Amino acid sequence: MKVVVVGGGIAGLSAAHRLAESKRPGLELTLLEGSDRFGGTIRTIERDGCLIELGPDSFLASKPWLSDLAGRLGVADRIIPTASTHRGAHVVHRGRLHPLPDGFLMMAPTRLGPMVTTSLFSWTGKVRCALDLVLPRGPANDDESLGAFVRRRFGGEVLERVVQPLIGGIYAGDPDTLSLKSTIPRFLEMERRHRSIIKAMVAQRRTAAGGGNGASAGSGARYGALNSFDRGMETIVQALLQHLPVDTMHTRTQVAGLNRDGRLWRLSCSDGRRFDADSVILALPARNAAELLHETDMDLYGELASIPHTSSAVMNLVYHRSDVPHPLDCFGFVVPDVEERKIIACTFSSIKFPNRAPEGLVLLRAFVGGARQQDLLDVDDEEMLRNVREELNDLMGIEAAPRHIALARYPDAMPQYLVGHARRMERVESLLERHLGLALAGNAYGGVGLPDCVHSGEQAAERVLEMAKDDSC
Ligand SMILES: Cc1cc2nc3c(=O)[nH]c(=O)nc-3n(C[C@H](O)[C@H](O)[C@H](O)COP(=O)(O)OP(=O)(O)OC[C@H]3O[C@@H](n4cnc5c(N)ncnc54)[C@H](O)[C@@H]3O)c2cc1C
Repeated sequence: MKVVVVGGGIAGLSAAHRLAESKRPGLELTLLEGSDRFGGTIRTIERDGCLIELGPDSFLASKPWLSDLAGRLGVADRIIPTASTHRGAHVVHRGRLHPLPDGFLMMAPTRLGPMVTTSLFSWTGKVRCALDLVLPRGPANDDESLGAFVRRRFGGEVLERVVQPLIGGIYAGDPDTLSLKSTIPRFLEMERRHRSIIKAMVAQRRTAAGGGNGASAGSGARYGALNSFDRGMETIVQALLQHLPVDTMHTRTQVAGLNRDGRLWRLSCSDGRRFDADSVILALPARNAAELLHETDMDLYGELASIPHTSSAVMNLVYHRSDVPHPLDCFGFVVPDVEERKIIACTFSSIKFPNRAPEGLVLLRAFVGGARQQDLLDVDDEEMLRNVREELNDLMGIEAAPRHIALARYPDAMPQYLVGHARRMERVESLLERHLGLALAGNAYGGVGLPDCVHSGEQAAERVLEMAKDDSC
């Protein structure tokens, strides 16, 4: 049984590892990666004594697949939580950094006191937000945008000033087009079960704090649930590579064509090489998978090509601590669209995780682009640096030049789960039934986070192993 995995990001590597782990007799595995390295978006480098994440910097511990994989690869002891102090975020409000009310997580408050005293929202905005406590459940829609849900439950102010920038930071997307069901379904579930999101969140916080002792939940993303590795996210990539047979893995091998020939899949690469396979796992961005399926299935092509992707850029900047007047008393800040700035967020990396910068230096990570600011990516590196420095000067008072910068651009890397995405996935699933030996993996389908991508790769591997079993019966 020959299986070719196309795409050596975390999804493709996880798929290949699951296949190798199965120890299925007669399995011949090949992993083809177009670029000159494995890991895809995950990339960790060291500069000036700093550990710099060019791509993702953390993963959600509450989704078990990445932690489980780390355990099987023998690197679970390298997993670290975020720092226990300063777990909170600021938001830009009227041109200044403003702390999010303590306990405000993603979309709703988990503590009422800080919501009452914050000057981030007007009194009308606060009263409108509190209406969540009494509002009935919404109509049982098939799907609804994140923006519509937040407006309906908490009002426009909470959406505009907090939820839009937090969501923008995570999905590089526009809440008015993103599907709630396919991005953060737990809020939908909360409404179904508890009616009021605030009541559900407060109850959850009390349970987590062991009976309501008033412990702070932090604010912003669920930082307490975020982990990384002591030497950065590339730890998991290196561990995967060490567990895969070297002769099965090929970099600089861009797959350019895929055809069905009887029971065989025939792959052709841009350098002229060819591979035959009984099964193929396409662990690629959806548009790349679509291109390869163009000749095989126009319906599948159409569904995959319709999943839009947005672009972003990450600029890491190393400064002398003495050049940064800001107290750095949180994990970073997000920027609402209405503030019309040239960055969408900034993480204080050396505050968020220990040992990211040596004593006396700080590491910051600014994000540019996202669904609503794609034009800010159409500039050269110097202009982008000028824009980022202008914002950091204005918002944090940093006038000095950074000692080092590391810029990474991610064109069309973030899939947008638009309203209707879940239905599209059902259609994709049923179209895949037509093709024995074909599976899809990656961030475009069932979750953009790293644990979801691991899960999608492992599921794709299980799928081809299962198909092969059925076929041989
Ligand atoms: C800037 C940024 C920050 C992020 N931060 C976080 C975070 O902190 N936490 C988190 O959980 N998630 C984060 N994400 C999301 C997460 O990193 C991605 O969803 C995930 O890494 C995608 O993995 P993948 O394997 O699906 O795709 P990719 O990493 O894109 O890998 C796909 C691979 O396929 C290869 N390829 C493409 N076409 C071909 C072809 N025709 N032939 C051969 N190879 C091909 C590409 O070269 C690439 O290596 C972030 C994403 C971005 C862009």
